Amino acid sequence: MEAALTARDRVGIQDFVLLDAYTSESAFLDNLRKRFNENLIYTYIGTLLVSVNPYKELGIYTKKQMDTYMGVNFFELPPHLFALADNAYRTMLAETNNHFILISGESGAGKTEASKKILQFYAASCPRTKLLDSVRDRLLLSNPVLEAFGNAKTLKNDNSSRFGKYMDIQFDHQGEAVGGHILSYLLEKSRVVHQNHGERNFHIFYQLVEGGEEELLRWLGLERNPQQYSYLVQGECAKVSSINDKNDWKTVQKALSVIDFSESDIEHLFGIIASVLHLGNVRFQANTQGYATVNSSAEVHWLSKLLGIRAQVLQEGLTHRKIEARTEEVLSPFTMDHALYARDALAKAVYGRTFTWLVSKINESLANKDSSRKTVIGLLDIYGFEVFHVNSFEQFCINYCNEKLQQLFIQLTLKSEQEEYEMEGIEWETVPFFNNKIICDLVEEKHRGIISVLDEECLRPGEATDLTFLERLEEKIGGHPHFLTHKLADQKTRKTLERGDFRLLHYAGEVTYCVVGFLDKNNDLLYRNIKEVMRLSKNAIVKHCFPSTEPDNKKRPDTVATQFKSSLVGLTEILMAKEPWYVRCVKPNDSKQPGRFDDVLVRHQVKYLGLMEHLRVRRAGFAYRRRFEVFLQRYKALCPDTWPHWKGSAAEGVERLVRHLGYKPDEYKLGKTKIFIRHPRTLFATEDAFEVC
Ligand code: ADP
Ligand code: MG
Repeated sequence: MEAALTARDRVGIQDFVLLDAYTSESAFLDNLRKRFNENLIYTYIGTLLVSVNPYKELGIYTKKQMDTYMGVNFFELPPHLFALADNAYRTMLAETNNHFILISGESGAGKTEASKKILQFYAASCPRTKLLDSVRDRLLLSNPVLEAFGNAKTLKNDNSSRFGKYMDIQFDHQGEAVGGHILSYLLEKSRVVHQNHGERNFHIFYQLVEGGEEELLRWLGLERNPQQYSYLVQGECAKVSSINDKNDWKTVQKALSVIDFSESDIEHLFGIIASVLHLGNVRFQANTQGYATVNSSAEVHWLSKLLGIRAQVLQEGLTHRKIEARTEEVLSPFTMDHALYARDALAKAVYGRTFTWLVSKINESLANKDSSRKTVIGLLDIYGFEVFHVNSFEQFCINYCNEKLQQLFIQLTLKSEQEEYEMEGIEWETVPFFNNKIICDLVEEKHRGIISVLDEECLRPGEATDLTFLERLEEKIGGHPHFLTHKLADQKTRKTLERGDFRLLHYAGEVTYCVVGFLDKNNDLLYRNIKEVMRLSKNAIVKHCFPSTEPDNKKRPDTVATQFKSSLVGLTEILMAKEPWYVRCVKPNDSKQPGRFDDVLVRHQVKYLGLMEHLRVRRAGFAYRRRFEVFLQRYKALCPDTWPHWKGSAAEGVERLVRHLGYKPDEYKLGKTKIFIRHPRTLFATEDAFEVC
């Protein structure tokens, strides 16, 4: 007779901390798989939430579900994203401090969906007044707009975020959402002019062409056919079955009007989107001297109309650059290649700068003018680790970003946790973990890091090439254990590397980068005279995006990689000052299908998301800790000896208090300044008692 499966056998355990064979990766995987097969996509490691993308609607984000999770103790209900969101929110209110929720995982693992669900939860859950409903709507509606302009179909995800996003949600002291602020990171601008096979440009282009009203398209000089536009067809998949561009267009229109975009803003915005499409269709012809001339009068006509720049001036800008001779400036004509390059550079710049404008415009609309003290919960939804068949500068930046976030995770949890035990004099067996600082340094160190070497090469125009960059790397960091090239590799490994490649051994695994395009992309060069041309534009957004105060070519602006590095340093500072919560998203298979759990794929993610290490630290450690003063102040009413005033030291007060509460010796430890509580349940019981009294 077949033994009936116990519930635990069937659905697994909802918190890995309670797993018996906790050190084994296989047991970890078994538990995750079991739960996934039962449509239980969430599992805790203490307060960290692991989420496995179900690739199907599960009906678990309803209003009813939200209500269920509101204000309920973390471990009393099955694991859920809402429980984590609620817990962060309530801790923020109780302790009046700032928090962030870091959502990580590889492309397609469910980060963006999770961040949207959290935002919806806050919008639905916190107390509401009529007045502030508009803030709530704006917070929610900023999403479809940013996704339209910043997301695209890639091979990994039909709605892949091609920018990093950090959003602060601001709450007043009553817990009401009163404002927000968004920071965006490194939009993948190269997508505007080039898409790999099976990928698309940013959604907004297709939405406009498919969904735009007849009159609008006529005004923009566009045809209702993406095939007409060379910037839209390189991936050969303008239409995607999972995407309804027409409907999305309507959503975006509605959202734009709610977040304060005026009619003229909208007009100018789509004037720009159309201009980019026209620009992509501009062709050049060589004149008798072999220099490029514009051979696209229709496109130039529309560009001139939409940007409000004289056709003659535009054509000149697209085919020449200004160079400084001794006392005067002269126009030097472009070769054919050069002209195409300059055209694409302009398209990227216009789109990229418009995206930045869009974010700041949304921020204006989300800004809270009231200066009273607010606390925030930050949501970080940033591109996950990426490995493609061919990896370029973009992947290099994205994966560097992931190294930085892993470093932050180590600092905030693994390392700081262990250091704290030591500092507090709590007995503790150190859990080993790989510290990826060595890889962060390899990329970002001054003078000898990869970014520095790249920047130096970018300073030698005409002499340096992508290959000299590679040689420099070999000279400077050839011996580094996490760096390899064809030349440096042993015979066996050499076969797996091309001459123009370098390989980094990231914490998450090896990635081979092809150096082609590194210098160009890092320079992101736009000639001064085309900037001056754009400055003449009658389109208010374009004019705004090319201000006359911009440092010109004489003063060299920071390179793309250096700017990105600085913005990551800024992000790290923002996050370090807040209390962390983590959502780790796992992608169950590579075919975007429901019900498939690919062991090899998941095991790899479990490894590089650091889940086992986190579990080990959690298992060995204490889920909660509070400074003696804070703990005593909050719970002193529960013990006659400490209420209303405790005369002795806070440490002694806490000792008296927990003894009175009946804490068992193995449930807690008293450090030098803090009480450590092993299991959240203990604290919850105390909290419940407190609420009753
Ligand atoms: P990421 O931002 O990590 O790249 P997304 O959040 O865009 O990934 O998720 C990719 C796709 O997976 C979504 O478009 C959606 O179809 C599906 N998906 C992700 N999370 C969920 C979820 N919780 N429930 C149902 N489907 C999901
Ligand atoms: Mg995303």
